Amino acid sequence: MSIQTIGVIGAGQMGNGIAHVMALAEFEVVLSDVSQDALTRAMEIIEGNLSRQASRGKITDETVRATMKRITTTLSLPDIGGTDLVIEAATERETVKQAIFEDLQPHLKPDTILTSNTSSISITRLASRTDRPEKFMGFHFMNPVPVMQLVELIRGIATDQPTYQACLAVVQRLGKTAASAEDFPGFIVNRILMPMINEAVYTLYEGVGNVESIDQSMKLGANHPMGPLELADFIGLDTCLAIMNVLHDGLADTKYRPCPLLTKYVEAGWLGRKTERGFYDYRGDTPVPTR
Ligand code: NAD
Repeated sequence: MSIQTIGVIGAGQMGNGIAHVMALAEFEVVLSDVSQDALTRAMEIIEGNLSRQASRGKITDETVRATMKRITTTLSLPDIGGTDLVIEAATERETVKQAIFEDLQPHLKPDTILTSNTSSISITRLASRTDRPEKFMGFHFMNPVPVMQLVELIRGIATDQPTYQACLAVVQRLGKTAASAEDFPGFIVNRILMPMINEAVYTLYEGVGNVESIDQSMKLGANHPMGPLELADFIGLDTCLAIMNVLHDGLADTKYRPCPLLTKYVEAGWLGRKTERGFYDYRGDTPVPTR
């Protein structure tokens, strides 16, 4: 099964990154969203990010132009139907994703592979609502997509081997590395990363350290490029809390209970960098710890 055309659904921070790397790897990309603003912004961001790669000498100006030409945008979901591989990267809500796959189904080619970039929703459950659970997988990129090397490939219970192999070939053509994960809450990266971040918040909550000492300890003591609280602010504290809830509910183990302090930050609307306040306050020139 050879993939030439990719349909990307959702033109947010993940969708625009996915369209960027796919077009750069010479796949033809159709990028769709329900919002024209999101599509316009996505194309501006992709062009800006490609131009930055060009200014660093990583790609040529001609490559920037050719890459942009390989991306078309649409507000009409049926336009995605003719592609070989669909990557759904819309808002992380199961009803939204289910509706997208239901609406898309009548327009699909028989052999189109369907995938979702979901961070936490069951691939098997999403697949079971489509007409092709054997051609359905999790295709989980990391943020920011053009920079991060890993893609998690998640098989649902029904996913067949040709589908897995076709997705693996796409990851290889991107020059990225695939890790194969089974379909359990959080897959691999978030199953390990989020409890560590949550534990860092407990360490803060219990007064074992302050924001600065916790981040410094993990940077200098465990050689992590970012401290866990700094990283939580980068990911978004609402996203961290949502993933902890998925682990807690899905695995029914109290070791995954979200730290009450994480919940409190989210209740305050202090969601990290995107709201300019989280474990750090980003409103000034340099981030200032909030505890
Ligand atoms: P985002 O909010 O930046 O973008 C979501 C986009 O989906 C928006 O542009 C929205 O208009 C669009 N959308 C909503 N409903 C739609 C519909 N019915 N049809 C088409 N488009 C629709 O979100 P994001 O951070 O890009 O996340 C997208 C997906 O990627 C989620 O499933 C998320 O869990 C996953 N993910 C996110 C990260 C991350 O760090 N942000 C990392 C890995 C995976």
